[in-house]
Amino acid sequence: MLSPEVLEKWDKEYFWHPFTQMKVYREEENLIFEKGEGVYLYDIYGRKFIDAISSLWCNVHGHNHPKLNRALIEQLQKVAHTTTLGSSNVPAILLAKRLVDISPPGLTKVFYSEDGAEAVEIAIKMAYHYWRNRGEKRRVFVSFREAYHGDTVGAVSVGGIDLFHGTYRDLLFETIFLPSPYLFCKERYGRLCDECKEELLGMLEDVLRRRDDVVAVVLEAGIQAAAGMLPFPKGFLKGVRELTKRYGVLMIVDEVATGFGRTGSMFYCQQEDVSPDFMCLGKGITGGYLPLAATLTTDEVFNAFLGEFGEKKHFYHGHTYTGNNLACAVALANLEIFEEERTLEKLQPKIEYLRERLQSMWELRHVGDVRQLGFMAGIELVKDRDKGEPFPYGDRVGFKVAYRCREKGVFLRPLGDVMVLMMPLIIKEEEMDQVIDALIWSIRELEKQPL
Ligand SMILES: *Cc1c(COP(=O)(O)O)cnc(C)c1O
Repeated sequence: MLSPEVLEKWDKEYFWHPFTQMKVYREEENLIFEKGEGVYLYDIYGRKFIDAISSLWCNVHGHNHPKLNRALIEQLQKVAHTTTLGSSNVPAILLAKRLVDISPPGLTKVFYSEDGAEAVEIAIKMAYHYWRNRGEKRRVFVSFREAYHGDTVGAVSVGGIDLFHGTYRDLLFETIFLPSPYLFCKERYGRLCDECKEELLGMLEDVLRRRDDVVAVVLEAGIQAAAGMLPFPKGFLKGVRELTKRYGVLMIVDEVATGFGRTGSMFYCQQEDVSPDFMCLGKGITGGYLPLAATLTTDEVFNAFLGEFGEKKHFYHGHTYTGNNLACAVALANLEIFEEERTLEKLQPKIEYLRERLQSMWELRHVGDVRQLGFMAGIELVKDRDKGEPFPYGDRVGFKVAYRCREKGVFLRPLGDVMVLMMPLIIKEEEMDQVIDALIWSIRELEKQPL
């Protein structure tokens, strides 16, 4: 193998990293991972870190899981990839059936893609196309400030994070934005509550009453994750479902971050008994092994695309690797592990333990807010809690705290100054302690030496 020095040099010379200021990256020491085992990652120097963000929120049962490895090897010995444009493959069929079985009732059709953004992009195009096939020309989407649905242009159009999406505004289709539920509630009521939920639903109802050209309401499931873990008031998702039904508008729920156990149930929708018209899945679908995503929808939507060939009603959309055999095989094994290892059952006490441990974060002077939904958590750092004053953006305080955690063997990536905890579901209590203790220690360091 090449020496670590050469790898570091080539990394900085040839590799343009996502969501990364490369000028800063090239000035710093970066982690180059080489292998993983359970919740641990090992870098090229053999240093060991707990993967406390599940490798960007997608690892579920740990790295290098024997069953997932075996599923891949077995599939690899048959075939790695065959096209699904007009033909099929075994694991893609089995997975489609399995996904329908575990999803909210009414979601009966599965359309595959490779990344979360594509799953949303496909839902957007399908929803738009659905109305066209029914002879109605609708064109506007309703979304929420601080929403994140991925980085392709359609997903960016319904995205509400100015820092990421503002630059591209001129390129995007029309979207009506309602306030971010969490930020709205905080500002208006100081907390998440029923009154606030009703007020938000009232705003949505106003839009749906006024406009007859709404294609769909698009929203994340229960929490705006990429915005810094901003949960919705309880029952909000259900309220949106009722309104979209009443006003005959489609509902797209993005479960890319929340799906596959992350909130304590297989999908968050199930906690509020919501069956949307579209459910977008990604991230945890393969247990964090391979890029795969899925857009689930209803018979109602599917049937609108049926017709004679010459009617040209079909969905002219697909990707080279749609329904890839290897990805689907590992996704199937991922779901089997949920049952065999009783993953969700074992997760419940860990969610409670996380809640308990997060309480102690409030004692830290620079912690401005602590938020949690299931096993997802965000700890917001501020310069001054009483004045609600943030740290200057350019100071990169979140990153600096995350870098310090590496000294304690914990790998984190913050969202701005929000420290994110998205640990693999299989993590043990004592490993959670290591993560949380490291985080508390590095936040305390901020008190000692102001940046
Ligand atoms: C990560 C994420 C996406 C985008 O998924 P990619 O696989 O990165 O394209 C979409 N929606 C939500 C809610 C996400 O968290």
